[in-house]
Amino acid sequence: MSATRHTRMLILGSGPAGLSAAIYGARAGLKPIVVQGMQPGGQLTITTDVENYPGFREVIQGPWLTQEMQAQAEHVGAEMVWDQIVDVDLSARPFRLTGDGGTIYTADTLVICTGAQAKWLGVEGEESLSGKGVSACATCDGFFYRGKKVVVIGGGNTAVEEALYLTNHSQDVTLIHRRDSLRSEKILQERLFAHPAIKVLWNKKVARFVGGGDPAGLVGVDLVDTVTGETSHEPADGAFVAIGHKPSTELFEGKLELDGGYLVVEKGTSRTAIPGLFAAGDVTDKVYRQAVTAAGTGCMAALEAEKFLASQEGHSAAA
Ligand code: NAP
Repeated sequence: MSATRHTRMLILGSGPAGLSAAIYGARAGLKPIVVQGMQPGGQLTITTDVENYPGFREVIQGPWLTQEMQAQAEHVGAEMVWDQIVDVDLSARPFRLTGDGGTIYTADTLVICTGAQAKWLGVEGEESLSGKGVSACATCDGFFYRGKKVVVIGGGNTAVEEALYLTNHSQDVTLIHRRDSLRSEKILQERLFAHPAIKVLWNKKVARFVGGGDPAGLVGVDLVDTVTGETSHEPADGAFVAIGHKPSTELFEGKLELDGGYLVVEKGTSRTAIPGLFAAGDVTDKVYRQAVTAAGTGCMAALEAEKFLASQEGHSAAA
């Protein structure tokens, strides 16, 4: 028989948004349950150096920051659950959610912090060579390319950070970008351009990931020039796709309003159209997408959930 757990605040996702909501919810005495999801800790756990989270003069590591947030949330009374929600009933009161192993969660308030995941190019060879040279996480897989040649695809902060990170392992890193300028922060661009181990190929799109060898693995990428249409081949042992992220909202399709895949919240709040249901972090944010903004909106969601519960129960919250 499957177990049923009830909570006043159920939080889906354990990145900075979910963990901040958990800290605030726990301190308000709501005993939140955090369903950690497929990637506990979220995108921060696959980030290395974090230099822009306030409070740390020295460079800190993403996984360490997540661990600290989680420890703080647990310390103040939040419960972490290693589970993945596979079904949600938002018409039921309390909300009713089903975990992967059959556990039923019922919740008076629900805070969705499911974040976003890496996007893929969708070109030939990408899927078949995934894990055999093609990756979306330099921090996870960069180590395998010590002394080898790697390419990074993309022109945003993630791509530039990945290229810089990969120089810890490889002395031959090529950034491939479809335009002739990067959209990443200037400070990162300066570091990239100054790095002797990194070259940039401008105006190039990957047409195909090419496999070969025994055991089979990536041997290079076929490129098309986005200006001239010329084709070329760039040899590579590893290719890192860093072209942005897609919000994790599949569970809510047809149940909540989405805008380009992102959950819609009332401007300036974390409220969705369903009373008692809140959303925070990258799952709602197509603009800022920073750990610190995710943490901030997670805090908002918990305060709003607390206020919602207080209004239901006929007394005022301290928010
Ligand atoms: P992003 O800023 O959306 O950049 C995606 C890059 O991939 C763009 O350069 C884009 O090209 C390129 N791209 C998209 N689709 C492509 C395709 N099909 N083929 C080839 N190239 C494609 O994504 P991100 O770099 O993952 O960053 C996401 C957010 O997180 C941003 O707000 C970023 O500031 C933030 N972030 C911050 C930090 C930090 O502060 N340390 C670190 C990582 C990420 P175009 O430029 O031509 O559109």
